[in-house]
Amino acid sequence: MSITRRDLLKTATAGFLLKLLPTDAWAVGQVRFVDVRLWPADDYTRVTLEHEGPLKYKFFLVDNPHRMVVDILDMRLDKTLKELTSRLKADDPYVQQIRVGQFDANTVRIVFDLKAPVRPEIFNIDPVATYQNRFVVDFYPQKPADPLMALVNKPEESATVEPSTKEDEIARAIRMAEGQGSGKVAKTPAVADKPVDKTPEKTPEKLADKSADKHIEKPAKGLEVKRVITVAIDPGHGGEDPGAVGNSGSYEKHVVLSIGKLLKEEIDGMPGMRAMLTRNGDFFVPLGTRVQKARSVNADLFVSIHADAFVKPTASGSSVFVLSERGASSTAAKWLANKENSSDLIGGVNIKGADNQLAKVLLDLSTTAQINDSIKLASAVLGKIGKIHRLHKAEVEQAGFAVLKAPDIPSILVETAFISNPEEEKKLNDPDHQKKIAQAIAAGIAQYFAKNPPVARRLT
Ligand SMILES: [Zn+2]
Repeated sequence: MSITRRDLLKTATAGFLLKLLPTDAWAVGQVRFVDVRLWPADDYTRVTLEHEGPLKYKFFLVDNPHRMVVDILDMRLDKTLKELTSRLKADDPYVQQIRVGQFDANTVRIVFDLKAPVRPEIFNIDPVATYQNRFVVDFYPQKPADPLMALVNKPEESATVEPSTKEDEIARAIRMAEGQGSGKVAKTPAVADKPVDKTPEKTPEKLADKSADKHIEKPAKGLEVKRVITVAIDPGHGGEDPGAVGNSGSYEKHVVLSIGKLLKEEIDGMPGMRAMLTRNGDFFVPLGTRVQKARSVNADLFVSIHADAFVKPTASGSSVFVLSERGASSTAAKWLANKENSSDLIGGVNIKGADNQLAKVLLDLSTTAQINDSIKLASAVLGKIGKIHRLHKAEVEQAGFAVLKAPDIPSILVETAFISNPEEEKKLNDPDHQKKIAQAIAAGIAQYFAKNPPVARRLT
């Protein structure tokens, strides 16, 4: 029987496939990768391997040069996992290079070449929302960055902006706070003069006792105001947690980060004020860590920014929320709080992580005084937002938002608009409107401090 040209072709194709099988075939084990994602950030770089089926792994760290090796057992390298190497960005703070290959017949080896020694955290997340199983590798710096240092480095020029009416209001608030009556407008805030806490380990006790008194510097006679008001701005969601997604495909996490950055600009532009962001990029920050970050800079206020979705696309308008000890002020508020509180599940929290334990302790200390101050702040912000945007409800709403539980920091959550409403989604993506929202929130904050000077508040 003669061999036809067609047969030859068949054999060649089969041979080609056979050659490829050991390195480029579909997974032969039970595990199958669905997607791989990288979330680089200064705080930590996260690698997420989303998969179906049970995943068995081993890992170890190697020095000289620093690298981490993860072996995935009972598996053949698949296309999805191979894509991991191309997802790495050159400016990743911790990972230099990723290599993926078939180590032996049943083991896939992933090697992370590292830029510096790291503290890795490896854990699994069960399927939630639209996600399947997730295998997560987090690379943390061995020495976590001190959020206070970022504040100390606040650019000089932002402190020397010409005073405006709004800034006068703030400066007046500070002078009142410092008992300087109607003295002249405060000059450059003495940012670097703020005590920098160099304590390496931060136990809850240590965090608690450095709150009020150390924080306040009594100005010596004839000296300019030293007390700088610090506002913690918390753009919701981030990284693995997109938040709500609009009809046109915009993500809440991106919109609120833009508004958060604009709000920071507004606040940094006010004399005697400075702002810090709980996240400055697209990465996930657990709810407790957001509060912890605010406390580590002795924040005077905590402002969480969101743009949520509701089941009905017709829902519209801005709302401002504060914590409730008793229960939600409306069904919608309760629904929303539950949704926001599920952020840790979706974003992916290592429940055994040390930071998470500390965060939990902090979240149980909320007080009535904090809630009363928060309501004053929320009313001021709601009043200003009401001038530029339709309100969902004319009153401040209350519910059990986890992120509002800092025991001694007035904390509000601003739902800027509904991303699920097509008209509002458009507005939320408009840089001019984003700026208007940021300015309205800043004006509300200024009004709050004019009526509730920080020292008086701290002493009551
Ligand atoms: Zn949200």
